[in-house]
Amino acid sequence: MYKDEYRHKGMRRQLVNKLRQKGIKDERVLQAIELIPRHWFLDSAFLEHAYQDKAFPIDEGQTISQPYTVAYQTELLQVTPGMRVLEIGTGSGYQACILAAMGAKVFTIEYHDKLFKKAKQMFTLMGLEKHIQAFCGDGSKGLPQYAPFDRILITAAAPGIPKELKNQLAIGGRLVAPVGDQHTQRMHCIVRKSEDTFEEIVGDFFKFVPLLGKYGWKK
Ligand code: SAM
Repeated sequence: MYKDEYRHKGMRRQLVNKLRQKGIKDERVLQAIELIPRHWFLDSAFLEHAYQDKAFPIDEGQTISQPYTVAYQTELLQVTPGMRVLEIGTGSGYQACILAAMGAKVFTIEYHDKLFKKAKQMFTLMGLEKHIQAFCGDGSKGLPQYAPFDRILITAAAPGIPKELKNQLAIGGRLVAPVGDQHTQRMHCIVRKSEDTFEEIVGDFFKFVPLLGKYGWKK
């Protein structure tokens, strides 16, 4: 069932070319997208959708993010091998695999138990289980027991960036998150300059599913 044949690789190459045309420049991000079989993260009936540049529904009313969004967030993160990266919103597990393929030591947390369990299976299937530690719970509070992180990525729409999460960043660390209301968000990138100084850059508009939990949107 989990095949990765010449035609799949060809479809991925085309997707990567499209992402390059849309402005993604980091070759390490593009290489990871070319490597990871995105169609494995969707039901096999939806192969044709796997390499289109669009988000796609998964269980629990959630989505696997659009490839351009994955590439945009990953490029902003500036991940290098060996970094400790916290992802909030595991979803299908695809983004975590992209980060692991780039050499990161990934910690990923998912709110929904069903998605958490499925993603964990995917990490084993991909042979990446040693590089990705998966958790189920409210990621809006981060994972203080594993902090500090070199990078933090939120893959759901946040009403704001919780101080608790900023405090889990290492000095010099970066946090990338879509911030806004439940309809549109802008990508925010925060760099921790010192113990209590943070620099913030605001990027393009996106549309994500809402962040749930203590610092997210109430259901
Ligand atoms: N990164 C995912 C992927 O590669 O498939 C896509 C993430 S999807 C757009 C957003 C995910 O965030 C959903 O799976 C949702 O259940 C999860 N989520 C929302 N609020 C959360 C929270 N407080 N803690 C952990 N996960 C949360």
